[in-house]
Amino acid sequence: MLIWDAHAGFETRSADDLATLEIWKAAGVDFLSVNVGYDVNTWQDTITALALARGWLRRTDGYRLVAGVEDIDLAIAAGEMAVAFDIEGMNALNGSVEMVRFYYDLGVRQMLFAYNLNNAAGGGCHDEDIGLSAFGREVVAEMNAVGMVIDCSHCGYRTTMEAMEISRDPVVFSHSNARALRDHERNIRDDQARRCAATGGVVGVNGIGPFVGTDDISTTSITDHIEYYLDLIGAKHVGIGLDYFHATGNGDSFSDTLSQNDHFWPKSQYPDSEIRCAAPMQFGEIAEELARRNHRDETVRAVLGGNYRRVARQVWK
Ligand SMILES: [Zn+2]
Repeated sequence: MLIWDAHAGFETRSADDLATLEIWKAAGVDFLSVNVGYDVNTWQDTITALALARGWLRRTDGYRLVAGVEDIDLAIAAGEMAVAFDIEGMNALNGSVEMVRFYYDLGVRQMLFAYNLNNAAGGGCHDEDIGLSAFGREVVAEMNAVGMVIDCSHCGYRTTMEAMEISRDPVVFSHSNARALRDHERNIRDDQARRCAATGGVVGVNGIGPFVGTDDISTTSITDHIEYYLDLIGAKHVGIGLDYFHATGNGDSFSDTLSQNDHFWPKSQYPDSEIRCAAPMQFGEIAEELARRNHRDETVRAVLGGNYRRVARQVWK
């Protein structure tokens, strides 16, 4: 069964920070989207992270940086884990729409508009609910032209609805849980999920404690979010973006980042000093739990990887 993890949060600062990818590989993950930047950092940090990640993947056996879905098939056949990159927030574009193709050429296959707080492209989920800016609209058109998947996770409500309105390609929420089950600003409303499905896209459930429940990373609760979406938008539109993030090898520096940039994570929304997340080994448990709840094999396969693969095949060029 193909296991596609639509997002993992890395904070790549040194040459071996990707060594923890072995955790996903050991868990049987076939494809992982590795974050190379987010709005908390500068655009130059993103370029540096890309250089370090590309270098590590080039010199390390067992992993393959992929350009297309056919490369994922080749990686699986060779016993390798396939990797592509994502960016969380368009500060990384430094105000230039030209940067979309530049990042695409370097392996970025998915990008979201604004990481929790508003930026030049649009709104973040913990900020005033502004829509897409003129620049954000330009970026949507460019991402469609280039073949980069538009991601609405972390973004404000209006920005997501407007992006899904104007995108010609399927749009995803790479890692966004259901607000109906857990009332948190990072989780999304039913109409956002329905609109995503209407574009042909996928909503990915994550394993982050405060988004699953109250500091809840249990397989059963994660499966509850998956099941909620299965009922709401159907088996063709649900996936997983687990967002395992404490495994970057420099967990301490991520804690520093958190404490030094707490406006990105308002205390009202993140009362706990530590945020826990489900581990990649839970992919297998999630599959078992879905089967135990009598979901068909076809549905389990679609959720674990088939749906995101379909979107990639349709959007990546
Ligand atoms: Zn994220």
